[in-house]
Amino acid sequence: MTQLEGIGMTSRRTRSRLIERLRGQGIVNETVLEAIWETPRHIFVDEALATRAYEDTALPIGFSQTISAPVTVARMTEALLQGVPPRKVLEIGTGSGYQAAILARLVPEVYTVERIQALQRKAQQRFYNLRLRNIRLNHSDGKQGWPEYAPFDGIIATAAPAVVPEALLEQLAVGGRLIIPVGSGVQQELRRIIRTETGYQEERLHEATFVPMLTGNK
Ligand code: SAH
Repeated sequence: MTQLEGIGMTSRRTRSRLIERLRGQGIVNETVLEAIWETPRHIFVDEALATRAYEDTALPIGFSQTISAPVTVARMTEALLQGVPPRKVLEIGTGSGYQAAILARLVPEVYTVERIQALQRKAQQRFYNLRLRNIRLNHSDGKQGWPEYAPFDGIIATAAPAVVPEALLEQLAVGGRLIIPVGSGVQQELRRIIRTETGYQEERLHEATFVPMLTGNK
């Protein structure tokens, strides 16, 4: 058996264990659980961390950034999918590409932006290797959204701004939802903001701990 096959077989069993853990945390959307089951998280972290890829924890991906814990990805994806199924979704903060890869199994068109070019390039290679062809990437400042492809049925931010960027609100379609952690400290709150015919409706979902959403790209 090659080392790679070894990882594949282990991850099959450990992936099922992860799904059970997510159910225990209150994740009920079966399509979300299925997408997580199907997506090999070990591909999205460095080889040295591959054995920890199916633990429900955030892990470092370099450049002081992290891949979110699976429960966080599950919770945000569930919140995004609630209601009319979105066709077109924008993610702010590609990072490892894991969240975008999950979205790509659930939504026809995924757009994702990242300010650190080296991370963006690695993510692009992973999407290519996994044959995920419905993801479009951009190296840019996510506080500006991605105006060329707006409006979006859903926007998901995986980095926390102190205040919700105006551009993201503007680029939501009517009925579209923005799932975003907001706050300037290490503790933030995860919010869902829905665009209505007349304005925006906001609700608080959960406590959250994300890396800060910075300004500009590098
Ligand atoms: N969704 C990622 C999580 C990555 S952590 C995953 O599944 O792995 C958050 C990411 O947001 C980091 O890669 C960070 O560089 C990026 N980020 C922070 N501020 C940003 C901004 N203004 N525009 C785009 N990306 C940003």
